[in-house]
Amino acid sequence: MKPKIYISRKLPEPIVSRLAEVCEVKMWDKEEEPVPREILEKEIQDVDGLYCLLTETIDRPLLELGTRLKIVSNMAVGYNNIDVAAANEKGIMVTNTPGVLTETTADLTFALLMAASRRLVEASDYLREGNWKTWSPMQLTGQDIYGATLGIFGLGRIGEALARRASGFDMKVYYHNRSRKPEVEEQLGIEYVDKGKLLRKSDFVCVLMPFTPETKNYIGAEELSLMKPTAVLVNTARGGIVNEEALYQALIKGVIWGAGIDVFEEEPLRTDHPLLSLPNVVALPHIGSASVNTRLKMASLAAENLLQGLQGETPENLVK
Ligand code: NAP
Repeated sequence: MKPKIYISRKLPEPIVSRLAEVCEVKMWDKEEEPVPREILEKEIQDVDGLYCLLTETIDRPLLELGTRLKIVSNMAVGYNNIDVAAANEKGIMVTNTPGVLTETTADLTFALLMAASRRLVEASDYLREGNWKTWSPMQLTGQDIYGATLGIFGLGRIGEALARRASGFDMKVYYHNRSRKPEVEEQLGIEYVDKGKLLRKSDFVCVLMPFTPETKNYIGAEELSLMKPTAVLVNTARGGIVNEEALYQALIKGVIWGAGIDVFEEEPLRTDHPLLSLPNVVALPHIGSASVNTRLKMASLAAENLLQGLQGETPENLVK
């Protein structure tokens, strides 16, 4: 008998076909609408595997319903939407999709850094709204990127890829993790510093660590107050690592100069969110990994992880 799986969002057809070779597949057949919680609660009771996105909260009460569930495969590298401890207690495997999205997310992080510092969205709106009447010396001036100092919180896969991009812009790179990476420091010519120094010395602060109880509000009012008034904060990791109220206050008071944000405490972001009222914020709808190729690779890797788990193997990307 084929194992049964539930897919919580419409996936590209080749991925569904691949899964259907091995499994009995049921899928929430909508692309732009998340599966309602009550449907997920019902479907999880009858399956061996769940294929889900970061939009689904896979918490303890939901996992309790999955009495025959063996594996939850998340189509994302971040897995803060899943209660991994609760899953492990019940012997349910959890997998993610590391690696395949590293370069694409680093590209987007650098793009956001550039967009916020050179005011690209604001400048484009200025033109489209008919405000461009003349050229003037200080019109729409931003902050330099070439030769500036970049600070990276969370020098993992994506952080390292970002540091490699920065070398092309002759940037000095600082990083901070819980553990040092001497070989990477040597290879990329980057420097490990404490949290305070990174905040004080960087022209750009990029956040690339996972969202965990430890990193919740990692950047709050105190941290922002240490940053340069000309600095730009970029968060492409997860909402909740940067405290949004503190960020809003810092931006309106000129404590920092600008921000580029791809991820929010609550997603989708309300259009009346205070951060969206600020011209010095470039806000994006969580598109870090959104290239055609990378999303297909993520979808495919999540499928393979799920199949490995269901076929009795230890999945390559098991989260512990
Ligand atoms: P990774 O390779 O696991 O890197 C995470 C880094 O964060 C590690 O170097 C880790 O080093 C550091 N870290 C963890 N906890 C920390 C703490 N408390 N203080 C300081 N540093 C800490 O992960 P990755 O693949 O680069 O992905 C990073 C995150 O990006 C993911 O978790 C995900 O949430 C996010 N992401 C977002 C998008 C998007 O669409 N915007 C796309 C992909 C990924 P230590 O363990 O030494 O501290």
